[in-house]
Amino acid sequence: MHHPKTQRKPGIPVLVGIPFDGNSSFLRGSAGAPGLIRSAFHSSSSNYWSELGVDLGSEGVFEDVGDLHFRHNVFNAIEQSIGDLVDQRLRPISLGGDHSITLPLVRAVGKRIPNLTILHFDAHPDLYDELDGSRLSHACPFARIMEENLVKRLVQVGIRTLNGHQREQAARFGVEIVEMRDLPAVNRMKIDGPIYLSFDMDVLDPAFAPGISHREPGGMSVREVLTYLHAIQGKIVAADIVEFNPVQDVSNLTAMVAAKILKELLGVMIKQGG
Ligand code: MN
Ligand code: MN
Repeated sequence: MHHPKTQRKPGIPVLVGIPFDGNSSFLRGSAGAPGLIRSAFHSSSSNYWSELGVDLGSEGVFEDVGDLHFRHNVFNAIEQSIGDLVDQRLRPISLGGDHSITLPLVRAVGKRIPNLTILHFDAHPDLYDELDGSRLSHACPFARIMEENLVKRLVQVGIRTLNGHQREQAARFGVEIVEMRDLPAVNRMKIDGPIYLSFDMDVLDPAFAPGISHREPGGMSVREVLTYLHAIQGKIVAADIVEFNPVQDVSNLTAMVAAKILKELLGVMIKQGG
């Protein structure tokens, strides 16, 4: 990873691409996401202003440090790189990858920032004890995170695939689940203390975001997601946007949706200040 040693304003958001999909259970492809999200973000079909009135094109409001490079020990590399950014008082936003990477991401943040709440948007609770013999599957990260006591609270929004096992896991870990069928619940975005935002693209209805590995109908619209993002109270100290799978995308539609979510997330974080 390249760290330009220029003067950075403390607390600014920093984009980091994570091209890793090795723990996907069904379809690979999310490793290809980071570059496509960037291209959509910078596309001249739109401008750099967030709906909240923040100009993301102005110098120094955020930074992009490029993609992480790793050969092996992927989780260690992710934890170390993200930890370095948090140590520099920056607020990392990870782009791409399957949801398994949220475990090392939250290890990096949770070990440094106490009383963290994870705000997790997803069709799936990702609480399996193991899937297909793997405890590091993208279906498992939040079970590992809760076992390792890395955070104070885990709040999940948009869930619509609970089975018996995962209901038991949620009860065991004290996970606060806001199911899709219980929306709207915008008031649940008021959170005390620092927030780690984990955004799985499949929380969106596949009609809005077909470029995902597990299409689960009955999800959120893009506008609903933006309403929830804009309503977040509590400081977002780090975030990820995961599970965009370009192999499944149609006409770059999901790339543009991911870029829009990134744009509005940046607007929220910049408005909150460092
Ligand atoms: Mn997920
Ligand atoms: Mn999911």
